[in-house]
Amino acid sequence: MAEVIPFDDRDGTIWYDGKLIPWRDAKTHVLTHGLHYGSSVFEGERYYNGRIYKLKEHTERLFESARILGMKIPYTPDEIDAACNEVIASHGFPDGYVRPVAFRGSEMMAVSAQSTKIHVAIAVWQWGSYFDPATKMKGIRIGISDWKRPAPDCAPSKAKAAGLYMIATLSKHAAEGQGYADALMYDYRGYVAEGTGANIMFVKDGELHTPMPDCFLDSITRRVVQGLATKRQIKVNVRHIKPEELAGFSEAFFAGTAAEVTPISEIGPYKFKPGAITETLMHDYAEDVRRPESIVQL
Ligand code: PMP
Repeated sequence: MAEVIPFDDRDGTIWYDGKLIPWRDAKTHVLTHGLHYGSSVFEGERYYNGRIYKLKEHTERLFESARILGMKIPYTPDEIDAACNEVIASHGFPDGYVRPVAFRGSEMMAVSAQSTKIHVAIAVWQWGSYFDPATKMKGIRIGISDWKRPAPDCAPSKAKAAGLYMIATLSKHAAEGQGYADALMYDYRGYVAEGTGANIMFVKDGELHTPMPDCFLDSITRRVVQGLATKRQIKVNVRHIKPEELAGFSEAFFAGTAAEVTPISEIGPYKFKPGAITETLMHDYAEDVRRPESIVQL
């Protein structure tokens, strides 16, 4: 296994509460509300050729996630956009991953946290293909999680909130323990939902089918892929999908900022053959992210 450099021991700078500081100094106390109570929201963005793809949409979602958790980010969206660009410029890589995070601080350490300060940090790192690029078109094998995406009145399911990743990490670890690369999660009703860090899309008879994001993250990438498919006259069906339907799909793939478009060859007992539609959309997405102006308006 390649050597892993711990995330707290790297060179560079991190934007923390309004300014760039040395990477190793971007610390927070162990008695931080976000750490104990999950009062934390974040984003994951990729930049290509020095440009953050769909930055405005990611920043809007960060503010919406914070709003859902009752947190007021003490900056404007324009200030956060500028800060993201400042961090990527300070690193100088052409391509990379951006991680803004907003969380409650240490002023109060109990369930009630009304007067905690809202901190914001933005870090950047290099993150290659989420799944092994050598085998990408072969497709990844994923398992099916026992954890269900919760109902919207059981968790803030529309927010990209740290707490929702508790079941994602459990699902991914269980899948990895069975030799899979990731896991498909169903929702509280038993419908097919999404992966642990990406939405899922299927192909049947030349059309796309994807679960309606009514209790999980409404992926920006998935919406771009829908737009790219529409431009190619591929019909997109956003609907509830039952597990019994998995046997009838010919192709399957993940869509997400980190995962980009990743073909899937197996979901538990179901087999798929990464094919022409997946490949076309994978290439269309790879082109769009590097265009000066995306051809898909969200
Ligand atoms: N679902 C989950 C749980 C995720 O973590 C992500 C990655 N942010 C996605 C979906 C994909 O969303 P997006 O395309 O907006 O990055």
